[in-house]
Amino acid sequence: MSETPTIHALDDATVRRIAAGEVVERPASVVKELFENSLDADASRITVAVEGGGVEGLRVRDDGVGMTAADLERAVEEHTTSKITGSDDLDRVGTLGFRGEALHTIGAVSRLTIRSRPQSGGRGHELTVEGGTAGEVTPSGCPPGTVVEVEDLFYNTPARRKFLKAETTEFDHVNRVVTQYALANPEVATTLEHDGREVFATEGAGDLESTILAVYGREVASSMIDVSAEPSGPLNSVSGLVSHPETTRAGREYLSTFVNGRYVTAGTLREAVLDAYGGQLATDRYPFAVLFVAVPPDAVDVNVHPRKMEVRFDDEAGVREAVTTAVREALLDEGLVRSTAPRG
Ligand code: ADP
Ligand code: MG
Repeated sequence: MSETPTIHALDDATVRRIAAGEVVERPASVVKELFENSLDADASRITVAVEGGGVEGLRVRDDGVGMTAADLERAVEEHTTSKITGSDDLDRVGTLGFRGEALHTIGAVSRLTIRSRPQSGGRGHELTVEGGTAGEVTPSGCPPGTVVEVEDLFYNTPARRKFLKAETTEFDHVNRVVTQYALANPEVATTLEHDGREVFATEGAGDLESTILAVYGREVASSMIDVSAEPSGPLNSVSGLVSHPETTRAGREYLSTFVNGRYVTAGTLREAVLDAYGGQLATDRYPFAVLFVAVPPDAVDVNVHPRKMEVRFDDEAGVREAVTTAVREALLDEGLVRSTAPRG
């Protein structure tokens, strides 16, 4: 008895669109990829401009190393990267990107234009990719560095486009991403604009205080308390700033935690910070925190999921206790929490 099989191989275009959905979920994920590329290109100034929440269009401009015409042509192809050369390098990746799929997948689901001129000299060029089809590389009178423009995201994947939320919600996500990167990289002057208005601009002076002032404003900045500890146990160091227990917000999104310089949404770290405040926080109120945790690379797994920014520690309990202790010491020094046991 011979039957026609019901299982068949998908065509390339369909495979590409499905894969694109893994990397690019919404405008904020595009911004994340482009911002990481600018950081990897050693930019000292990065400007993110979005229109209509990023759904209509978005642009990331940097003053990084830039690309030659030949590199520009390669950059949008599948699995092309300048950051690693083979699987040996996978164990010691020093850049934010290395998969070589972001520009390719963004180009598959939007109208993507890249203008770039090498910082080291030579002329500028531009290239447009529309729905996965790359045009010709042509000369462009752009300044040194790179500008990436993404228009009509998901115009050719209506199902995914339908999942996008209101412009304000999409912009909130973009704002959160750019804010985290600005906080993690105080030496990079970061500007965010929405519909032609500046949302914030950091100086790039290198200090966390002025970066927090630019991002969160004076009230928050003036209430921040220094955290600095080199605990024994699983962590090398805990440093950063946390807010006065009375400077709070209704959501947890202002609890920013970074592991070895990378923004992560680790429940362990957030809980650890909240524990440090003891009973000093009002019900359902959360403090601001910008906290950097340094861990030996072999004691943490950052590759849980490339997009979700989660992280797993070998010793979750030890990490949690070390962070709580570091933040608690800082609050105790300011007399902002009561010590449970008399000290000394
Ligand atoms: P990955 O970042 O994983 O290498 P991408 O698709 O994001 O993959 O980028 C492909 C390549 O294009 C990068 O490896 C880099 O060489 C180049 N590139 C991308 N963005 C920039 C930029 N802003 N400045 C300079 N080069 C860039
Ligand atoms: Mg990249």
